[in-house]
Amino acid sequence: MATATSNIDDLLQCPICLDILQDPKVLDCQHTFCANCLKVHLASIERNHGSSNFMDCPTCRLRSNLINNSIDSLPGNYIVRDIIERQYGTTTPERPPGYAQQIQDRIQKMQKEEDVGFDLEKYIKPAAAALLGILGGLLLAKGAKKMFNDKK
Ligand SMILES: [Zn+2]
Ligand SMILES: [Zn+2]
Repeated sequence: MATATSNIDDLLQCPICLDILQDPKVLDCQHTFCANCLKVHLASIERNHGSSNFMDCPTCRLRSNLINNSIDSLPGNYIVRDIIERQYGTTTPERPPGYAQQIQDRIQKMQKEEDVGFDLEKYIKPAAAALLGILGGLLLAKGAKKMFNDKK
């Protein structure tokens, strides 16, 4: 049974803070995060882009609309909350000081990882296109040469 319990722990983990979900909220994509983690995420979006009535999922980037720019408008994940209550009791563990900063760093890291992936794609695609161009040029040259030889 020990294995089953740790598997459940994985399911109850927030992808942002990697801790047990606290006040779990569901985005349109069905990904679940702590309400507080989403608030920190939204605050960082608003710092960069101004007031936002939507949020892109930190995991899959699917967009969810927010009513009144508020995380509280998102539906709670009651099944997850009930499982957590059953596993850990009604009292959720206290967050240590500096916790918001930790979450902030974690989100930034997640976004940086995504950006690196995006950059790679940006560089690989032109390289592949250039390679195809060279191959195409070689084939054309070969064809032209063949035509020239046939004429002879
Ligand atoms: Zn969290
Ligand atoms: Zn998602």
